[in-house]
Amino acid sequence: MNAEIIAVGSELLSPTRVDTNSLYLTEQLNALGIEVVAKAVVGDDRPRLATLVKMAMERSELVFTTGGLGPTEDDVTREAVADALGRTLVFHPEIAQQIEERFRRAGRQMPAINRRQAFIIEGAQILTNDKGTAPGQWIEYAPGRVVVLLPGPPVELKSMYSRECAPRLQRLVPRQLIRTLHLRVAGMPESELDQLIAPVYRRYPQVATTVLAAPGDIQVILRARCATEEEAEALLQEIGPQIEALLGDRVYSRDGRSLEEVVGEMLVARNATVAVAESCTGGMVGARLTSVPGSSRYFVGGFLTYSDQMKWQLLGVSPEELAEFSSVSAPVARSMAEGARLRAGSTYAVSVTGIAGPEGGTPETPVGTVFIGIACPHDTYVQRYRFVGDRERVRQLATQAALDLLRRAIAGLPLEPAALTATDQLPQTPS
Ligand code: ATP
Ligand code: MG
Repeated sequence: MNAEIIAVGSELLSPTRVDTNSLYLTEQLNALGIEVVAKAVVGDDRPRLATLVKMAMERSELVFTTGGLGPTEDDVTREAVADALGRTLVFHPEIAQQIEERFRRAGRQMPAINRRQAFIIEGAQILTNDKGTAPGQWIEYAPGRVVVLLPGPPVELKSMYSRECAPRLQRLVPRQLIRTLHLRVAGMPESELDQLIAPVYRRYPQVATTVLAAPGDIQVILRARCATEEEAEALLQEIGPQIEALLGDRVYSRDGRSLEEVVGEMLVARNATVAVAESCTGGMVGARLTSVPGSSRYFVGGFLTYSDQMKWQLLGVSPEELAEFSSVSAPVARSMAEGARLRAGSTYAVSVTGIAGPEGGTPETPVGTVFIGIACPHDTYVQRYRFVGDRERVRQLATQAALDLLRRAIAGLPLEPAALTATDQLPQTPS
């Protein structure tokens, strides 16, 4: 079942007000397995709102409006939805009485304009408002097709939704369960990943697939909606391995855990420790490793060696080596990692040295060139990268690559991920 939400109120079109009601509603609806497929914000304008409601009714089974149920002239949701449905508004004296009673209890007399709130769309069910005056309305205009009018103030909306809407929706919506598979992938451009896996997930329309990208880090979230847990689980068991097979050892997490968490757990499992030696990332690798609670079990410390002199003094990289190869080079990355491992007394050490830009590039080592070294108990590995982007992006990509290279070294994986399978060579599986 699909839903749309229309937030009504000219104030929501100002630069200072945000529509948060739709976020709350989306969370609630998703929990019932209802997908929100479109949202809109519209001013207090009767014809515009009527047009939007009509459009939404054509596309989606459930349409929610929030706001515009107040007593003043500019609150036009009742009228606009009546227009969209081609129905009239009917005055309900008992609602007017209840509103009057509410005012009386507060020691006030009901202003005449509040009578407007007692007008209900023909055939609507009334949704009681225990936090304010405006009742909501539930109009089932065809079997399984509903327009719901909810008040704008968030406290009123939330109370009304949970008391009046949630039980009605549970009756309306077929029972559904949602299971998710949350893959995280390092070191791959988003477009390349999507091209690779789209042929698989497109064959499973019952699974909602989301691809979220950050520098050097992509999340693939698969949400299976089924009537039973077993069905949802089986569906993910079918699609998950197909996607994982395409991505291979680029997948570092299957439950949404971050790369630094995964690396931390690998170190703990091996009773191992790590140290860092950073130049162009200025401590970003250490910051990410230590962002994980409990990282003191495996993170020993780091060397922030920006200048050649510090690389020599703190890590023992020889001046001759620095002069011969320059600080951004494979031999220096190696010496930095080995120096850090030796001096920190850790099992592993990661080094990063590169040119983040915008200045400092040369024809041989252009901006974006980064060397990452991993010193292990029996060997040291160095990889050369060329990242594209501004200074901050190069630094983020280098940090991500350093953590991923560490993961690969600890796991004994090849330092370079395997070449990707072309999409036209995909095995055909029945959908
Ligand atoms: P009332 O009976 O209070 O007039 P109403 O249904 O007419 O209710 P509005 O006048 O549209 O509601 O909004 C009242 C207040 O509720 C707004 O000033 C705003 O603070 C808040 N509000 C309205 N819509 C939203 C929204 N979509 N998200 C968050 N807050 C909202
Ligand atoms: Mg309003």
